[in-house]
Amino acid sequence: MMSNEELQLPPRQLFVGGAWRDGSTGMRRDVVDPATGAILTTVVEADATDVDVAVRNAREAFDHGPWQRMPARDRARILHRAADLIRERADELVALESRDVGKPVSLCRAVDVETAAQQYEYCAALAQGIDGATRSTPIPSLAYTTRVPVGVVAAITPFNFPLILSSTKIAAALAAGNVVVHKPADDTPLSALFMAELLKDAGVPDGVLNVVTGSGQIVGDALLRHSGVDKIAFTGSTAIGRHAASVAGEHLKPVTMELGGNAAHLVFDDADLDVAIGAVIKAFVFNSGQFCMAGPRLLVARALHDTVLGILEQAVPTVPIGDPRDPATVIGPMAGERQLKKVEEYVELARKEGGRIICGGERLDLDGGYYYRPTVIADLPTDSRVIAEEVFGPVLTVQPFDDEDEAVALANSTPYGLAAGLQTRDVTRAHRVAARLDAGIVWVNDWAMLDPAIPFGGVKDSGFGREYGPEALEAYTKIKSVVVSLPEPQ
Ligand code: NAP
Repeated sequence: MMSNEELQLPPRQLFVGGAWRDGSTGMRRDVVDPATGAILTTVVEADATDVDVAVRNAREAFDHGPWQRMPARDRARILHRAADLIRERADELVALESRDVGKPVSLCRAVDVETAAQQYEYCAALAQGIDGATRSTPIPSLAYTTRVPVGVVAAITPFNFPLILSSTKIAAALAAGNVVVHKPADDTPLSALFMAELLKDAGVPDGVLNVVTGSGQIVGDALLRHSGVDKIAFTGSTAIGRHAASVAGEHLKPVTMELGGNAAHLVFDDADLDVAIGAVIKAFVFNSGQFCMAGPRLLVARALHDTVLGILEQAVPTVPIGDPRDPATVIGPMAGERQLKKVEEYVELARKEGGRIICGGERLDLDGGYYYRPTVIADLPTDSRVIAEEVFGPVLTVQPFDDEDEAVALANSTPYGLAAGLQTRDVTRAHRVAARLDAGIVWVNDWAMLDPAIPFGGVKDSGFGREYGPEALEAYTKIKSVVVSLPEPQ
């Protein structure tokens, strides 16, 4: 395990124009280790002046720098080098991300760091395939389209998967020839700053990636409103997403919105229960439930309801919870005290609503960290707020259903529509129900199967636009039509 000194956690600065710099106000913010409550380091509490400097640097890099004019093959080579450096420096990144977010090191290595590397590789490959088309028209002309970068992208990300979510945006934006000003979440900003330097080492020119830390209300809002920003790529809660989309609307800026979720997980009576239970547990405990695509609403065929509750009561408390630096740990602490308190409030509310706590339902006192035991709750009324709202913690509610129509109706009875899943051995039912579930992605007989090639994003209050897949790159380009007159000779 790396100590803070080995991790090199001196106070961090802003990364602007390819160099580290202090913020204009001199104010700083503590970054806390959620496994102990200890202060890890401090970052700059930037303000609108710093945002302006970062956007101006990005603008200059876009308008006059080499990045957008560079052959796509050369951009791809740099992004490939970034992927290689991520793997070479995986030990440092795992230690940093785990310490900052409370993620178990084994999952952090296998999921967060590896996914980030894969995103750069995938986007590097796509960079070389950004094509236009020729169009046949009755006009005597040659008509064709080209795809050009959007320009300066503001990338705003939440606290729960800092490395993956910033890499998702930065890799796609850069592959398409854009430049980025990135604001990570104020609770978990460290991997974004690490990546800024790593990308510079990989060959990304100065000014192409800028990272500004600070509060959403000041730095995030200033980015949304800055006239030098051409596109907003936002991931976060539906409430802040609504605000960001309305500001973007005022300023007529294109946006992609990756917002909250509250996915249903349907277990039909023909499911393979071993497979189903494994997926159900993974879907609500992974990342301590701080997981936009978590499956916190379990819907079980009535015939299996009590059996499933009995299995969960036995199995869930055996999932290893504790120090994220222990390679055996599966559930670490919540990322911060705010998140822990929110989960406590929701479980209290569940008790008041008449819910039966099958297991968990309390904090785990360990090393002063923000731990909450994985919690299963049955017998809540169908209009329970704990079922309806995004708890964003290791909490699973369980409801029975009588038939497929009721299962689908319950699953879709939420404003969210990010993910959904079902467990069945009936192939016909799998496709039929998948088609009826109102969600951006549906998993069958597993949970959270993702790959940079699979488009990801929501419907309804979970947002719009897609990340991952070729669709992600398209969102970072504009189509330009060129029509060349070819008159017939007179
Ligand atoms: P959040 O509170 O909405 O924050 C997201 C980002 O927006 C943070 O960087 C935040 O900065 C910033 N922000 C806050 N107020 C702002 C403002 N007025 N203007 C501009 N930016 C502002 O979300 P969170 O609590 O960090 O993350 C959890 C949420 O993200 C959940 O709802 C989860 O479902 C969602 N999420 C969605 C996806 C997806 O792909 N759909 C993925 C992961 C998470 P501060 O940190 O400084 O407040």
